[in-house]
Amino acid sequence: MTLPETTPTYYRKGFGLKAEVHDTLAADYTGRLVDLLRQRDYMLSMGGVTVRLAREFGFCYGVERAVEYAYQTRTKFPDRRIFLAGEIIHNPHVNEKLREMGITFLRSDGGDFDYSAVEPLDVVILPAFGVTMHDFETLRAKGVVVVDTTCGSVLNVWKRVDSYARNGLTAVIHGKYYHEETRATASQVSRYSGGRYLVIRNMDEARIVCDYIEGRGTREGFVAQFARAASPEFDPDRDLLRVGVANQTTMLARESLAIGEEIGQALARAHGADYRAEHFRTFDTICSATQDRQDAVEALLREPLDAMLVIGGYNSSNTISLAAICAAKVRTYHVEDATCLDVGRGVIRHHLVGASGEVETADWLGTAEQISVGLTAGASTPNNKIGEAVARVFATRGIDASDIV
Ligand code: SF4
Repeated sequence: MTLPETTPTYYRKGFGLKAEVHDTLAADYTGRLVDLLRQRDYMLSMGGVTVRLAREFGFCYGVERAVEYAYQTRTKFPDRRIFLAGEIIHNPHVNEKLREMGITFLRSDGGDFDYSAVEPLDVVILPAFGVTMHDFETLRAKGVVVVDTTCGSVLNVWKRVDSYARNGLTAVIHGKYYHEETRATASQVSRYSGGRYLVIRNMDEARIVCDYIEGRGTREGFVAQFARAASPEFDPDRDLLRVGVANQTTMLARESLAIGEEIGQALARAHGADYRAEHFRTFDTICSATQDRQDAVEALLREPLDAMLVIGGYNSSNTISLAAICAAKVRTYHVEDATCLDVGRGVIRHHLVGASGEVETADWLGTAEQISVGLTAGASTPNNKIGEAVARVFATRGIDASDIV
């Protein structure tokens, strides 16, 4: 789907304007407190409050590249109308900055984006998650300038899914069927006639798939359950005989591995080990940035912590995965940004893992004289936003973080 870099209306390797956008990016996203945490072995203490930061957190390489590329695009095309297909990443502050730069966000109704306002001289930026084959082809047909920031790790998943479809395997994708990345990934099968996909959200859904493979469950029930998460005309009797498993890059790594294994075992139980060897593939396509952040938070959770603060968009898949890991071990608050910490009232607004909607918790830091708060942030959270949250943790106990030098 990607075109050679030489195509004058298609860019995916930057414009050589790194130096030009460096200072603006630094001003928009770096944070003093995060720099200080790094210098102090990821820990700051004052007035009985200790904040410990995971050693891998925040902006990943794919997000850094996508955001920088968007800034470069504005510099390269100062007089052109610039559109963005959806959100560059799932962070409201970054998206707001892009809006302030005059970039227009295109909306979708959960399906394809509405490109009706886009004209041939316009520039359209594709986000780090990528877009579907259909969206990509629509833009190419319009002849607009396309700036493609799709992350290399997402492209790797696409290659995997492409090879499954090419070899007649149904791509079973551990992910969220409505997530931009997974929609783009699933669309890769449409290159091949007979290409099929099925998106499964979690181990519960994987078990439904396994049951069907082993002859349990009804066809109607299965089709109804996965109506929105499967390729058109998905037939479980035909399409679960040869399977390749992949995953959205930001899922919980251990769950993805377990799902792959579970489906492989179901095929072996249903048809035998030789059949499994021939007709089943599984490949961990969690990206290294997601893996590193999950490993780092596991390491942090081995420290004595009273609570864990996880910062990132409520619709950020990798942030949700981090919160799930933390919630299994310690009191965890998933907040969108520092404004969720209401210092005056001592209240925190947050998401509970596995639930939707914000809740408020009072006295979230408790009354113990010494308190240790762990902190991590999703791959779309910039350092300045992490720093603001750190300052508010201290402020909740009446400590001015600017006194920490
Ligand atoms: S989370 Fe992973 S796949 Fe997504 S943009 Fe970051 S590095 Fe790329």
